[in-house]
Amino acid sequence: MARRKKLYEGKAKILYEGPEPGTLVQYFKDDATAFNAEKRAKIEGKGVLNNRMSEHFMTGLNAIGVPTHFIRRLNMREQLIRSVEMIPLEVVVRNVAAGSISTRLGMEEGTALPRPIVEFYLKDDKLGDPLVTDEHILAFNWATQQDLDDMVALGLRVNDFMSGLMYGVGIRLIDFKIEIGRIFEGDYQRLIVADEISPDSCRLWDAKSGQKLDKDVFRRDLGNLADAYTEVANRFGLIPKNAPPASGPKLVN
Ligand code: UDP
Repeated sequence: MARRKKLYEGKAKILYEGPEPGTLVQYFKDDATAFNAEKRAKIEGKGVLNNRMSEHFMTGLNAIGVPTHFIRRLNMREQLIRSVEMIPLEVVVRNVAAGSISTRLGMEEGTALPRPIVEFYLKDDKLGDPLVTDEHILAFNWATQQDLDDMVALGLRVNDFMSGLMYGVGIRLIDFKIEIGRIFEGDYQRLIVADEISPDSCRLWDAKSGQKLDKDVFRRDLGNLADAYTEVANRFGLIPKNAPPASGPKLVN
């Protein structure tokens, strides 16, 4: 069988042509990058964990009526998704100050925000994904006012759903990033959640100990990233009981 066509390769995922029009296959790699890809590593098993966790979160979102691109998981590393026209913005929703808002506004990490804050960043690696305002987005036509309203609404719905889901397993959702795409249905178009939702794109702190269970473990050298992601996946019952540990000694025959 001919190898299917690769359409795009990013830092953590590859997109292939899908089996039917309007679909794509999203492949999760083991590569981890931070600081605009200045720091990189291969974390064995990360792709498998993120494929499974993104499936879990997006299936839940679809079930409560928040549209996503996720159709179904195909195998350990691949999922079938709807092809969308990506909006060139990252939507970040924050509940607690951490990362760039802490640095920018001089807020101690861990400070609860008075309400969830939605921010937009321009997707542009060369510029380091700068923070942009509604004014920039509208003036430069990266999205319309309707898109902006829809993106804020989607971001806040994802925030409520993900915060509740995490609360149920003893994790605080500090912040997260989503990407949004446009789909066309006859004369109509609408925005749906695309890309992935995983510990690569969220800050997750254990509710009791405050331990970080997200990509900051890699960014800040706080321990083994695969172990942190396995802990999150385990709390959702996504890892079979007899699965080998993500890190540690390898079995030899
Ligand atoms: N984030 C992401 N991709 C990016 C930038 C940020 O997934 O290119 C996520 C990040 O993991 C965190 C949230 O968005 O959960 C807010 O990130 P922040 O702006 O604090 O930037 P960072 O500290 O990651 O540079």
